[in-house]
Amino acid sequence: MNYLENLIRPSLFKIKPYSSARDEYKGTDGIFLDANENPFGELNRYPDPYQKKLKTELSKINSVSAEAIFIGNGSDEVIDLSFRIFCEPSKDKALTFVPTYGMYEVSAALNNVELIKMPLNDEFQIDFNKLDEFINDSSIKLIFICSPNNPTGNSMDGIEKILKKFSGVVIIDEAYIDFSERESWIKRIEEFPNLIVSQTFSKAWGLAAARIGVAYAQPEIIHWFNKVKPPYNVSALNQNAAISALKNKRATDEQITCIKACREQLIHELNGVNRVKKIYRSDANFILVEFDNADDVYNYLINKKVITRNRNSVIKNCIRITVGLPVENEKLISELKIM
Ligand SMILES: *Cc1c(COP(=O)(O)O)cnc(C)c1O
Repeated sequence: MNYLENLIRPSLFKIKPYSSARDEYKGTDGIFLDANENPFGELNRYPDPYQKKLKTELSKINSVSAEAIFIGNGSDEVIDLSFRIFCEPSKDKALTFVPTYGMYEVSAALNNVELIKMPLNDEFQIDFNKLDEFINDSSIKLIFICSPNNPTGNSMDGIEKILKKFSGVVIIDEAYIDFSERESWIKRIEEFPNLIVSQTFSKAWGLAAARIGVAYAQPEIIHWFNKVKPPYNVSALNQNAAISALKNKRATDEQITCIKACREQLIHELNGVNRVKKIYRSDANFILVEFDNADDVYNYLINKKVITRNRNSVIKNCIRITVGLPVENEKLISELKIM
């Protein structure tokens, strides 16, 4: 068996994926009497199961082949499928670095996979001294690295070391990469057969409602995602929304520029708020802020109809604040100043 086949759940080799009507006949014109659709209407046909148009647009922007792209029903589907592809329930394990995005843990639990949670150090970076014992554990099949990390906002250093040493699959969650000055790891997928880069249309692209997640990896890995995914996992409405956004990339780029400028402005203003104890640097569209008493501040803001994310239970006295519209950010600051 080759390197990748050793990592795949053995039972998957036996599974024959559901072959949909759109799998069996791939042409686009003709009289379609194959899928029991209603012949009337506009949304009456099943969507393209492999989202070819969307992948063509994505491959232009990122200079990767369409075979290196998987589209999920949000990145949450990418995370879930990763467990299903690589981890045998109640046997294999996964690892991540905490505090981080909560879905890795939920998805691990749903799949009955143990998730090892290594604490990040005081700078919210990976503690490499403690990682070695895990990196050589062959029951660990997946490592999730969120970079820029949610909720801390910083980018992770030293990822390349993990990619080189770890013999399982490394998933780099780049949900916030568009707000960062760092390069995406997409450019490195050809170098690392064990790398999956996960991105989303939910943040910078402004399409959280459309549920579009994207995984980039070598075609050998993408093949397995296609094999285990539900046949029509992304609706035509959602595919079209993502295609329109990509065709109008300039508008998104302008929004990103604006959000990054607002982020710096917000940091500047927060520095002048009495109850703020520390503001963490951010490569994302949110800022992690330590207050003298996060619960108090959070509840006060709720009363003012300003909703933030209280992370006190995860990082003492910290609140995660998303960068909003300039007027929304100003309202937040003015409420905090009179508190
Ligand atoms: C918001 C977020 C996502 C997005 O998930 P979707 O299912 O694509 O909406 C993924 N990863 C992280 C770390 C996030 O914060």
